[in-house]
Amino acid sequence: MKILYVEDNQVNVSLVRRVARMGGHEVINYIDGEDALRNFERDQPDVVLMDIQLAGALSGLEVVKKLREQGHKMPMVALTAYAMLGDRERCLEAGCDDYLAKPVAIHELVELFKRYAAQEPPAVIREGKADEAASTAEPAPLDTDATKPEINAAAVSEVEMPTEDREKTN
Ligand code: MN
Repeated sequence: MKILYVEDNQVNVSLVRRVARMGGHEVINYIDGEDALRNFERDQPDVVLMDIQLAGALSGLEVVKKLREQGHKMPMVALTAYAMLGDRERCLEAGCDDYLAKPVAIHELVELFKRYAAQEPPAVIREGKADEAASTAEPAPLDTDATKPEINAAAVSEVEMPTEDREKTN
C-alpha cells in the first residue's frame, strides 16, 4: 500500500521507511503540511501517518481536519511526541483513527501496517486490473522472528537521541 508520512524529522522518516519496506509498502514524505495537502489528490495514499508539529504553518492535526473536510476517508494515524493526557482525544477529534506516541516502537509500526494493509481492498477491485493484482495483492510475508533482532538493534541506535535533541526536531 501507499503510505503518506508527513514528518519533519528525517530520523523518524527513515525508520518508518525501513519498516514499511519490510511489508512491501511505499512511503511518500513531506515535512510540511501545505505540501502534503497540495499533492494529496495526485499521491492518493492508502494510509496517512501524521506528525503533529510540522515544518510549515499548519499543525498535523489541522492537516488531518482539512483532509477530512475534503471528504478523504482513508485511515489517518497521528504520531506525536507529546506524551500528554488528552492527546489521544485531540487526535481523534481532528479526525484521526489512531494515535502513536513517539518514539514509535518498531513492533507498533509493523502491527499498524499489517492491520491497514489487511483492510485495503485487493488491487483487482481497486484498479480493475487482474494482471497487476496477481503481483501486488499479496504483500511479502513478514518474517518477524528472523528479522527482529537485527532491526531492533538498528532502530534503537537510530531513535535513541538525547531528550533535548529530540524535542528540537519534533
Ligand atoms: Mn515534528
